[in-house]
Parts: sequence; structure tokens; C-alpha cells
Amino acid sequence: MESKQAQSRFIVLLGAPGAGKGTQAAYLEEVLGIPHVSSGDLFRENLRNETGLGKLARSYMDKGELVPDEVTIAMVKERLARPDCAGGAVLDGFPRTIAQAQALDEILAETGRRVGIVPYIKVPDDVLLARLAGRWTCRQCEAVYHELFNPPKIAGKCDVCGGELYQRADDTPETQRRRIEVYFQQTTPLIEYYRDRGLLVEIDGAQSIERVQADLLAAIQSGSQS
Ligand code: ADP
Ligand code: AMP
Repeated sequence: MESKQAQSRFIVLLGAPGAGKGTQAAYLEEVLGIPHVSSGDLFRENLRNETGLGKLARSYMDKGELVPDEVTIAMVKERLARPDCAGGAVLDGFPRTIAQAQALDEILAETGRRVGIVPYIKVPDDVLLARLAGRWTCRQCEAVYHELFNPPKIAGKCDVCGGELYQRADDTPETQRRRIEVYFQQTTPLIEYYRDRGLLVEIDGAQSIERVQADLLAAIQSGSQS
């Protein structure tokens, strides 16, 4: 039987767009040695490769709407079936609806696994907008920066891989507002879904990146020992 510690290594990061999920997931990937699985990154990879899925996803992403559950679930299921996810993953941006959360439970249960902990990174709305407005992302490795709060060492260049930084097409003020609205309508019910299952841990996301990292790691470590 799988140990509680191994089960706990399926970590679902919850939080609004701009809360810092991607930033923290990259850190957790490094310290815990489990892959960062971001549904947004998977869609952007499909956009870059001009796949059919990418073309479909673009029409929703550009408007700040959610891509339909069926295609999103199939894409993430395929990703979680790859060998590097056998021992866990840090999920960022998925699930975003109750149907996706139920599908995730089923996908993991098929192989005797389950979600171990759900850190909910809480950030006030006005802070979210300031974060999204200054976000720069690496075209090659998807590392995330902020022009004021977390600038790269060399402007316009990724510290990790030297790739070119760009501002996401869906980081315009109008789309940002819509994404935050969609989050409140469709994703916030997940807070209760996971609270009811005893998996939710609230993290104060309005602190510095380093403080959020420390709080997250402490929550994950104490969750895996209980
Ligand atoms: P999400 O994945 O939740 O949408 P990101 O990780 O992309 O959020 O972060 C959004 C923006 O906010 C990025 O520009 C990132 O550098 C910045 N950021 C993330 N966490 C913090 C923090 N604790 N303090 C200040 N800025 C942050
Ligand atoms: P993100 O990178 O998480 O900010 O996601 C960018 C966009 O990709 C979202 O605004 C959605 O259009 C789409 N997307 C990402 N994850 C999901 C998901 N789990 N369900 C539906 N759409 C998603």
C-alpha cells in the first residue's frame, strides 16, 4: 500500500489568477523533486505547436474563459499518466471546476493515488491585478517574473534558460478582469470541495515570494507527517 507521504505528494495549488501558483509550483518542483503540471502551460505548448487543441484553446484563453472540461481533463489525464508523475505532481491551474476536481479524484484513484494536500494561496483582488499587469513569462521554459516584484537579472531575459521574456496575450486589463470573474464564479466552489475533504490549507499569498515558499513547505511537510 502507498504510504501517506507518497499520497500527499499530489499537491493541488488553488488561488486566483496572479496569486502566485506558477511561481510557487516551480519552487516546489525543485525542492520536492516532483513535476510541476500546469494546465495553462500545457495549453500554451499546444498554441506554440499549432495543434488542433491549441487552436481550440486559444478561442477561450483570449477571452479569459475556461476551456471546456472535457478537453482539459483529457489533456491533464494524459500528462498525469506519464512516468514522471508516478510519485506525485504539483498541479497548478487544474482543477478549476467541480467536474475537473471529481475527474482528478477518479484519474488518481484508478492507480490507487489521491490528492494529498490543497494549499489555497489567498491574495486580495487589487494585488492580483498589479501582479498580472507586471508579469513576464519565458517563451522557452515558462519561468515567471514580475517587472517590479521579481525582476530577471537581465531585463527581457530568463535567468533559468536565457530565453526571451514576453507578456502573455491574456494579460491585458480586460482579459485579466474576466479571468478573475471566471475564477470567482467557477473555481471558488473548489475551496469548499477540498475543505470538506479535510485537504485545504490556507496560505497568506500577500507576503513576499520567500515567505509564501516557507509557509507552503511547512504546510506540506506537516501534512505529510499526519
Ligand atoms: P498564477 O500562476 O497564480 O497566475 P504567477 O505565479 O504567474 O501567478 O504570479 C503572477 C505574478 O505575480 C508574476 O509576475 C509573479 O512574478 C508575481 N508574484 C508571484 N508571487 C508573488 C509574491 N508573493 N509577491 C509579489 N509578486 C509575486
Ligand atoms: P493559466 O496559465 O492557469 O492562467 O491559464 C490560462 C488560460 O488557460 C485560462 O484563462 C483558461 O482559458 C485556460 N485554462 C488553464 N487551465 C484551465 C483549466 N483547468 N480549465 C479550463 N481552462 C483552463
